Amino acid sequence: MGNLVEAFDLAGRAGRPALIPFVKGAEQRPVSYGDLGALAARFAGVLDRLGLAPGDRVVAKVEKSVAGLALYLATLQRGAVFVPLNTAYRPQEVEYFLRDTAARLVVCDPAERPVLQPMADGIGAAVLTLDADGKGSLAETAAAPQPAILPRREDDVAAILYTSGTTGKPKGAMLTHGNLRSNAEALRDLWRVTGNDVMLHALPIFHAHGLFVGCNVMLLAGARMLFLPKFDPAQMLDLLPRATVMMGIPTFYARLMSDPRLDHDRVAGMRLFTCGSAPLLAATHREWSARTGTAILERYGMTETGMNTSNPYDGERRPGSVGPALPGVLVRITRAETGEVLPAGEVGMIEVKGPNVFKGYWQLPERTAAEFRADGWFITGDLGFLSQDGYVQIVGRGKDLVITGGYNVYPKEVETEIDALEGVLESAVIGLPHADFGEAVTAIVVARAGTAPDERAIQTALRDRLAGFKLPKRVIFLAELPRNTMGKVQKAQLREAYRGLYSA
Ligand code: AMP
Repeated sequence: MGNLVEAFDLAGRAGRPALIPFVKGAEQRPVSYGDLGALAARFAGVLDRLGLAPGDRVVAKVEKSVAGLALYLATLQRGAVFVPLNTAYRPQEVEYFLRDTAARLVVCDPAERPVLQPMADGIGAAVLTLDADGKGSLAETAAAPQPAILPRREDDVAAILYTSGTTGKPKGAMLTHGNLRSNAEALRDLWRVTGNDVMLHALPIFHAHGLFVGCNVMLLAGARMLFLPKFDPAQMLDLLPRATVMMGIPTFYARLMSDPRLDHDRVAGMRLFTCGSAPLLAATHREWSARTGTAILERYGMTETGMNTSNPYDGERRPGSVGPALPGVLVRITRAETGEVLPAGEVGMIEVKGPNVFKGYWQLPERTAAEFRADGWFITGDLGFLSQDGYVQIVGRGKDLVITGGYNVYPKEVETEIDALEGVLESAVIGLPHADFGEAVTAIVVARAGTAPDERAIQTALRDRLAGFKLPKRVIFLAELPRNTMGKVQKAQLREAYRGLYSA
């Protein structure tokens, strides 16, 4: 299939707008596909001048910008491997990624250069800088533009993305040109993305959601992106009338709904709202429909696989479900321990197979082998079940499962009941060490503004709805749940914070 960048046809679409960037709240001049290609060619020239060879790793810890996107394209164009890092990482974490990838080039914000330079020197990597305005030594290095796109095979690695692993060291998932391209094509077709679309892009581009689902799909379709450095609900509401597509995480939707300006009229021109990266509450889905007259399309994927399932474009977008498998992708539910395939309705391990599934973890063949079945199915680590008509419903991460007195408790089930109670905004259910039960079901609850539900009331209200072993032994109130940039509740952090709750 060749190099992914070829599929974007930057030269063929030279006159079409690709990006309308916003910097510090101000709209900038549109950037055409041709401009983007020219910038990528300039950066590719710099990579050539540094002697980067196909397969070499380029680590990028840069703010979201047009230049940051061009660096991604330039890296792929030269057959090198793009390694985007979360901008929130601390120097010590970055050092791990530099060493682990044996990077040849590090691109960072000028302010971070003094700290990162000695680390890069230690592994013989070059350092270039790029700030949020596209300035820095990457842009200033004189080099002849290199527009050539090197041929790549389908299974050549295009990018390594480190997964937000909550236990042990992060693992680098190797995504190939074939993985990225097949997934972008499937999503473009399923979601009917065309050159007429305008996407409101407020996701970070160091993560698979913003970079691969957002940028790859839009560039493949020849569409346009309103490119925002971060999510600002007021700005999003201003821009909604100019867009046709928005991709978001649950937090985006919750925050947009807290603004009274959100109504049917404001989204009249919107064709598609998608949501993923973390579970969208069925209640949020319904509330959004009532407020806007549009149904959010929830989908499910992960760094290692790109997108696996999606609610349909035309058919029913079911609240609380992530929809059926994408065309070309196979999904099954198994008993985690044995791999035995389970029938519809039974909760088990979600496994997937298809051209979207990654090549393996960078330099971790054993970890890779442990997460695949002998027949090639990838074990996602997510638990869920299939409906009779093939819709997947996720019940949580396997590692978040609570085992209390020998019984399995799926946190999602308990959370759903708690969230339905009066005065509760949201909740997270975790298992904490307990002398008698092994783990004790524990609920962390965020109350709605102006209400003060108490522990007893919650426990009593749940008594009629859940079996005794599923009831939270304790309910703890917090002002908000700890979340990462992608809106995922950090349960490991909660488990750590309350580790001693039952031993005191
Ligand atoms: P990441 O690799 O950071 O993209 O995280 C992937 C994980 O996010 C998946 O394995 C799921 O646990 C979770 N996830 C992604 N999309 C959804 C969704 N729509 N509903 C529930 N969990 C999701």
